[in-house]
Amino acid sequence: MVLGDLGSKLVDALGKLQSSMLLDDGIINQVIKDICLALIQADVNIQQVNELRQSIKRSLDANAIAAGHNKRVLVRQAVVEALSKMFDPGHPPFQPKRGRTNIIMFVGLQGSGKTTTVAKYANFYKKKGFKCAVVCADTFRAGAFSQLQQNAAKVRVPFYGEQENKDPVAIALAGVRMFTEEGFDLIIVDTSGRHMQDTELFEEMKQVADAIHPNDIVFVMDSSIGQAAHDQALAFRQKVNITSVVVTKLDGHAKGGGALVAATQSPIVFLGVGEGFDQMELFNTHSFISRLLG
Ligand code: GDP
Repeated sequence: MVLGDLGSKLVDALGKLQSSMLLDDGIINQVIKDICLALIQADVNIQQVNELRQSIKRSLDANAIAAGHNKRVLVRQAVVEALSKMFDPGHPPFQPKRGRTNIIMFVGLQGSGKTTTVAKYANFYKKKGFKCAVVCADTFRAGAFSQLQQNAAKVRVPFYGEQENKDPVAIALAGVRMFTEEGFDLIIVDTSGRHMQDTELFEEMKQVADAIHPNDIVFVMDSSIGQAAHDQALAFRQKVNITSVVVTKLDGHAKGGGALVAATQSPIVFLGVGEGFDQMELFNTHSFISRLLG
């Protein structure tokens, strides 16, 4: 279970609802306080935690905990609703469809886990019966070509790249054209990893996007950066139309909550939970919250 630490703190907080004989305002406020503290410790931004606190209180007031209502159920419902709102971008993610060409472009900072995630993503959809292929348009990092080529071989999907060519736009276009003509329905394009200050690479990302017209731009983000995720996601969003997010390395990072919440202006589609190509979980707000709360 990812974010196990946050999950167990939330479960402990909600447990007080069950264990208290008398559920008065003092206990309810303590539960809300514990929940907020757990989120702050998971590196969720304080403003978002305050919004959640208000939202829980509003919902409790609206339901006017009156005689006849089960207070324990109402408080739990209010917490679940507020947490769901926090993780919900308000619109569904792009869903690739079989039998048509889906062009998926991957972007992210160097080291975020982008190239690994490309292979995980191909592996996931291949198992769902998609005809997948990957294209290496990362001409910046030495070794990117062979890393993706090897990853592609391991998950058994075709690979396109041009080791001697330094023009990422030309490579991306050639790869997408070739796989489109060959009838692939999921064409995944890996682009150069960036540093936040690297304006040239940000420009390159935009040029590749303008050339291949992806159906979905997947932003890969390392969860260990916590709240910094907000600025990072914003910087990418300002250049290209990020439509999906994958949050990686949620295994072993108690502070992943900040990244998860910060990312959610675009829907999170997957969570990376290990280095293996099958260590990626589909993200669904509702089931994530249920699992988080045990
Ligand atoms: P890129 O520079 O963004 O393409 O990053 P890579 O795909 O090369 O990944 C960088 C490192 O992170 C590699 O050692 C990967 O095995 C590792 N990695 C990627 N995703 C995950 C994940 O979800 N969990 C863990 N623990 N490691 C990951």
